[in-house]
Amino acid sequence: MIKGKTALVTGSTSGIGLGVARCLAAQGANVILNGFGEHEQARAEIAALGVKAGYHGADMSVPTQIEAMMAYAVSDFGGVDILVNNAGIQHVAPVEDFPVEKWDAIIAINLSSAFHTTRLAVPAMRKQNWGRIINIASAHGLVASAQKSAYVAAKHGIVGFTKSIALETATTGITVNAICPGWVLTPLVQKQIDARAAKEGISVQQANIGLLAEKQPSLQFTTPQQLGELAVFLCSSAADNVRGQAWAVDGGWTAQ
Ligand code: NAD
Repeated sequence: MIKGKTALVTGSTSGIGLGVARCLAAQGANVILNGFGEHEQARAEIAALGVKAGYHGADMSVPTQIEAMMAYAVSDFGGVDILVNNAGIQHVAPVEDFPVEKWDAIIAINLSSAFHTTRLAVPAMRKQNWGRIINIASAHGLVASAQKSAYVAAKHGIVGFTKSIALETATTGITVNAICPGWVLTPLVQKQIDARAAKEGISVQQANIGLLAEKQPSLQFTTPQQLGELAVFLCSSAADNVRGQAWAVDGGWTAQ
């Protein structure tokens, strides 16, 4: 089912995106990576799995760059069969102090970029009557935390967007779903742990435990690999009729 298909994973130079890209490549999907920072090692690692691996450095906050990335996918890979909207950033501050440019960037990267990739990917998916769109939302797509207004708004937004596009494509071979992770130990969360350790004058290890204990009853981080395996399942024929779901992998966070 996945073998020979092309997956585009936004924000896949680290963390969850890279984990999802690895799992899809392990099943034989060609992969287009995207994101900032070092990417040659990630690309080589994906290629070593025996698939075609590409990279495009589009900034997900800039619609014209997203258009260029989607054009690259068509010219170099023949299009996108599996679209994983994963790129995301975080900023933590009370609303009255929230920097306006941070609000705009979070909405652009965490939410609007998925609109642009999706609008550009869907026509070819409709033509071939097959496609998978997987949006990496968050537990914060289902419930809120204080001081994360932009992030929570964007993640609730992408869960709603997921449902809407799932309905638009419901009679086709395209499925659209969201994955809602709780805490995953990636650079995005490491920053929050480090900030917590500094603010409370505690060790990074204590900050780790405190962060988990506050929200995630399992007291364990979810891994990028576990999320990648869920993405593989959503790409399988067993998931042909899973549509518009927001699938939590959050150690019990949203069960409370
Ligand atoms: P990360 O910081 O490890 O990775 C983010 C990726 O996005 C990187 O590849 C980065 O280069 C890329 N990126 C950032 N800004 C970009 C931009 N403007 N254009 C293109 N790429 C950009 O973070 P992560 O934790 O792996 O997060 C990935 C996704 O998972 C995000 O949407 C995040 O909100 C979501 N998420 C993370 C957690 C967690 O606990 N880590 C939990 C729930 C949801």
